[in-house]
Amino acid sequence: MSSIQTLQGIGQATATLLEKLHIFSTEDLLFHLPRDYEDRSTIIAMNQLTVGRSYLLEGVVQSVDFPPGKRKSMAVLLQDETGKVTLRFYHIYKALTERLKMGNRVRVFGEVRVGARGLELYHPEIQAVTAQTGLPKTQLTAIYPSTDGLTQPKLREYVKLALNQHSDDLAELIPSKFHNGYVLKDALLYLHEPPISANMQQLAQATHPAQQRLIFEELVAHQVSLLTRRAYIRQIQAPIIQSSQTLGQQLLAQLPFKLTQAQQRVSKEIAHDLQQNKAMLRLVQGDVGAGKTLVAALAACHVLESGWQVALMAPTEILAEQHFLNFSRWFEALGISVAWLSGKQKGKARAQAEQEIATGTAQLVVGTHALFQENIRFLKLGLVIIDEQHRFGVDQRLALRNKGEQGSTPHQLVMTATPIPRTLAMSAYGDLDTSIIDELPPGRTPIQTVTIPLERRNQVLERIANNCREGKQAYWVCTLVEQSETLDAQAAEATYSEIKTQFPELNIGLVHGKMKAAEKQSVMHAFKQNQLQLLIATTVIEVGVDVPNASIMVIENAERLGLSQLHQLRGRVGRGALASFCALLYKTPLSQNGYERLAILRESNDGFVIAEKDLELRGPGELLGTKQTGDMGFRVARLERDDHLLAQAHYVAEQILAHYPQLIEPLLKRWLPEAPRYAYI
Ligand code: ADP
Ligand code: MG
Repeated sequence: MSSIQTLQGIGQATATLLEKLHIFSTEDLLFHLPRDYEDRSTIIAMNQLTVGRSYLLEGVVQSVDFPPGKRKSMAVLLQDETGKVTLRFYHIYKALTERLKMGNRVRVFGEVRVGARGLELYHPEIQAVTAQTGLPKTQLTAIYPSTDGLTQPKLREYVKLALNQHSDDLAELIPSKFHNGYVLKDALLYLHEPPISANMQQLAQATHPAQQRLIFEELVAHQVSLLTRRAYIRQIQAPIIQSSQTLGQQLLAQLPFKLTQAQQRVSKEIAHDLQQNKAMLRLVQGDVGAGKTLVAALAACHVLESGWQVALMAPTEILAEQHFLNFSRWFEALGISVAWLSGKQKGKARAQAEQEIATGTAQLVVGTHALFQENIRFLKLGLVIIDEQHRFGVDQRLALRNKGEQGSTPHQLVMTATPIPRTLAMSAYGDLDTSIIDELPPGRTPIQTVTIPLERRNQVLERIANNCREGKQAYWVCTLVEQSETLDAQAAEATYSEIKTQFPELNIGLVHGKMKAAEKQSVMHAFKQNQLQLLIATTVIEVGVDVPNASIMVIENAERLGLSQLHQLRGRVGRGALASFCALLYKTPLSQNGYERLAILRESNDGFVIAEKDLELRGPGELLGTKQTGDMGFRVARLERDDHLLAQAHYVAEQILAHYPQLIEPLLKRWLPEAPRYAYI
């Protein structure tokens, strides 16, 4: 693999531009695949043009002028035997005017639009035609992902150079018996310059065998990366934890219910892992309300009883606080000390928490990601539980490695809040073992979900107010702009004053991400104690919040949220014996696709079904959060499109680890050059 600057015509300036496209070497250039293709094989007569399509035209420049107007432009009249078009330029430079002198013959390619002078092409690509100019290209023309300052013709030229000079250096990194028979070099040649006869639709859908060959290799590389990481973690020493004899029994004895079959099964799997001297790394999946918290608490029992500390980490303050209350209630009764650590904690309280953690006085510590911080030292950390709602990245998970005693790593248990489709779990959590809690506790009443246009908001509000007067508890969720906590908070505040004015007799609370931790806590506490009937909230209540008596939820602007997120939010109700109800308010007009999305929630209460649909409709980024997808960083593969290749890719990755270890390093270098490096075994 050689530096990009060994190619003729690429100096420092161009190299810097290419770096923006993550192209550092000649090999990266070969793997920089077109995002689209254009057919420039035939010169089209100017009287045959349809507006909105792109064409290759050839003609003679008849006139050049600079019409007056708000924006300075250059208009070039080009004519062939059948008609004429105007070429329009707003960015005018010398080389351009040189090429477009009166009487010059040129070939241009661009999209036809209607402009001030009839049919016009804006900034077409231009080629001068001389006696030596050959026939138009006999291949499709590649359109590459590019960046400002790097034109398509330039990129094409660089790729061509790389193909000519370096495609023979390409190593085959997948043994041929495992792929579809396409030699890598041929696949790349084909994709950079497909013949005119190529099936453009197939190329657009990435189903051509040449594309499949590359997609497959990339998926294999990702699986190899996950498996090496997994193998690496698996050989790390961790404390052997014997199964709890008493603590677990005592915990269960406090509860008014029995474990479900699924909770029992998953608890056994965890207990088995903990008895090994190698680090556990297990993902527990389960639908909203399946009872993951209790499974985590039982895992903690084994570890605490063996004399090790346990850390429980949650992605939001509200959820961490709630876990802290639950765990304090459960464990302090059993003589276990529970400590609290959050980023907002300052001064004395913080120092005291740190001290208790370091000396081992705190046996169980609950907190936010503050627990990851460098200066937090545990005396004897045996287990880390992450209730993650896909907000922690793989690297953060690994950062915990160093928190154990010298030479040992804590066991790790990761709980997802939203079910993840199998194929996606294989890619995002392929380095973890997985357990699934596939059963809800008995006695849950299914949530009745309805979709209602925003025009009927007042009626909905009246109805909610009536229910609240009768003693029921409800959430009213305001979602304005997902990305902006500030705007969301403002929307929630406005709704809060509006509803409070309209229904002064109701006890109404407000909670959003911009409030102080203590304020949030006291509002949540009041709601939990049934002192508030109506809670106006932003999506901060999305994860984990557990108030079984709340049975009604209204979500405004539901069309803006992902299905899994809506399902997660909706999971705040339907937790008690009361019949539960969820109204999704949407803004009209709503697209067909929008209706269909909301209908899925109306029809299904099954988080796994909903997650599959969400993956189909919105892609993995929405399900996993940007952090995780960023970590996955696929170049040619798209999980929602290519998931049918994953099982085979996983198998081939296993084969490579077992029988072709020399391929591991080059595969990772080729496909995941920017991924953090771990010690490979
Ligand atoms: P999630 O899986 O969404 O994290 P939680 O752990 O918050 O779910 O549990 C949801 C509710 O179900 C809690 O109120 C919890 O006490 C209750 N719960 C957990 N396990 C059982 C069970 N086996 N039977 C009845 N209720 C249970
Ligand atoms: Mg939970």
